[in-house]
Amino acid sequence: MLRNFLIRLSTSDSMRRFATDFGPVRRVVRRFIAGETIDDAVAAVKELNARGIKTLMNEVGESVTTQAGATQAAKAFHTLLQRIDDEGLDSHVTLKPSHVGMTFGRDFFYENVVDIVRAAQTYGNTLEIDIEASPDVQDTIDVYHRLLDTFGGGVRLAIQTYLHRTYADVQRITERGGSVRLVKGAYNESPDIAYQSKKEIDQATIQLMETILDALAEQSEITLILGSHDPKMIEWLIRETEARGIGKDRFEIQMLMGVRRDEQQRLAALGYQVRVYVPYGDAWYPYFMRRMAEYPANILLIGRAMLGK
Ligand SMILES: Cc1cc2nc3c(=O)[nH]c(=O)nc-3n(C[C@H](O)[C@H](O)[C@H](O)COP(=O)(O)OP(=O)(O)OC[C@H]3O[C@@H](n4cnc5c(N)ncnc54)[C@H](O)[C@@H]3O)c2cc1C
Repeated sequence: MLRNFLIRLSTSDSMRRFATDFGPVRRVVRRFIAGETIDDAVAAVKELNARGIKTLMNEVGESVTTQAGATQAAKAFHTLLQRIDDEGLDSHVTLKPSHVGMTFGRDFFYENVVDIVRAAQTYGNTLEIDIEASPDVQDTIDVYHRLLDTFGGGVRLAIQTYLHRTYADVQRITERGGSVRLVKGAYNESPDIAYQSKKEIDQATIQLMETILDALAEQSEITLILGSHDPKMIEWLIRETEARGIGKDRFEIQMLMGVRRDEQQRLAALGYQVRVYVPYGDAWYPYFMRRMAEYPANILLIGRAMLGK
């Protein structure tokens, strides 16, 4: 219930203004968001890279309401790719479809994203695409298949394991040589289309990891990417890859900046590929609220900041 309430607050303007202006909240925000500028993000990435952790940079933004705004957002991703190259960072780039034009239809989104993929290829980098709430899922997957037609598996797509449809989506994408980032899913979805209990979502996540692990033997170009902080899911993946003799270079564990930082470091020190999602930019509010909703214990961090601890 608290999760649903916090997800609803992530679209509230008055809460956004409160969070932006209230010092203790802003201090907690800095744990999860690198800062408002690209320089802040570069500094955070350098620090992570120095500790053997790869990254995934995202200029936060979503539901952009004008075509000009979406085009401008797309340009910012070109700037980001160039900056990653200039600084020699070990970082992919990821974007949200509704940030770069999905609101105006999948063709408009495709045109914006295809240019970013070309730029990523020029720099020898990889673009990842986040997945948003269910009304955009089909269009995002369709665009991803168009990108696979042109670029093969050099682009990655996030896929939500809580959706009933996902097993079929993952099979089709994997058969075509695409790599997906399996995430449980961060939005409120109805029981008609999505599993609701943690038990069901965990089972679906394991089943999907199994499907991709089966495919790894035949498809040398795909990577299994687990985007999760859940110790059960991570332990399962490590155990299963060891049992199957699958090398650490064939899978990646992704986590969000500020979440389970010790575990990120521990896994990286053991030689696992760990990639941390580093968000930055001034439109941080909905992203931050979804992080609170996922793990309401994080609200205690705000309480502690208010008490000056
Ligand atoms: C790299 C990455 C990219 C993502 N991209 C997307 C996307 O494109 N679309 C989308 O819908 N969702 C995305 N998500 C969010 C995802 O869908 C989940 O909402 C989120 O990861 C929480 O699920 P979980 O698997 O981490 O574990 P949960 O099942 O939520 O939690 C299991 C356990 O993990 C630990 N844990 C989880 N979260 C926290 C936390 N915040 N702080 C401390 N411990 C925690 C706790 O021990 C908890 O009991 C992404 C997540 C990651 C890591």
